[in-house]
Amino acid sequence: SRFPESRTVILTGAASPRGIGRASAHYLAELGWNIGIIDLDADAATSVAADIAEQHGVVAAGAGANVADEAQVRAAFDELEAALPQVLALVNLAGVSSPVPYLEVTADEWNRVIGINLNGVHFATRRAVESMVKNGVGRVVNLSSVSAQRGGGTFSKTAYSAAKAGVIGFSRSVARELGRDGITVNVISPGPIDTDIMGGTLTDERKEAMAADGVLPRIGTPRDIAAAIAYLISEDAGFVTGQTLNVDGGLYMH
Ligand code: NAD
Repeated sequence: SRFPESRTVILTGAASPRGIGRASAHYLAELGWNIGIIDLDADAATSVAADIAEQHGVVAAGAGANVADEAQVRAAFDELEAALPQVLALVNLAGVSSPVPYLEVTADEWNRVIGINLNGVHFATRRAVESMVKNGVGRVVNLSSVSAQRGGGTFSKTAYSAAKAGVIGFSRSVARELGRDGITVNVISPGPIDTDIMGGTLTDERKEAMAADGVLPRIGTPRDIAAAIAYLISEDAGFVTGQTLNVDGGLYMH
């Protein structure tokens, strides 16, 4: 289906100052998308949205929700949907790292990571596609990780790999079920990107070591991911669904 002239993308996890989400929100606003932001802190989400509206001349709004809590996600989505033009796209970026080795992982840590990184993707997707099905058009992009594709070998360990691998299976299945409704669902699987998700452990030495491992010997930037998101939610990507795009400097090829 054709995209409406005035359309909105909602991004979860776009409040972090140096994160992929915020950079992507700016990138997409520059392309004319109106922006909705869902993040843990409502004030942070709202202030990022206000900056975006001012800098790019689009409509933007923010709302607070813990993505691991379905009722909060639905309430935030309702609020944004009421304030913004047609929600055509959802990008699930909210996520947490988990450096805990498998033999030390507790039930609480396991559930925390699956709750945010996998259940959170389901809750936001479920709410978004309910509207997209009615509109007969929609785009969903979910963030996985090279950690899912290669089986760890990254800062985060097994709970994270399991959640992020779950995101791939989830996305393929929703893509298959909702293709006839005009909805595409795809995954981006980043390699190491220079943000704060690794909690200050991403030192210059660590960045160099990670870069050395790549076919393209550098660490990724939020903009590398933003550009991939922009493609996958574009009108012209309408024949692409159920795919995982590795934006990882060639770390994982398949
Ligand atoms: P980041 O820590 O900068 O941003 C994560 C955002 O998610 C923050 O704004 C945070 O407030 C939000 N968030 C965390 N828990 C939340 C919750 N329970 N509810 C709502 N919001 C929550 O991280 P980033 O590096 O920008 O990561 C973005 C996505 O990309 C994540 O899903 C991450 O797993 C994935 N990813 C990142 C890398 C990397 O190297 N940075 C690599 C592969 C995948």
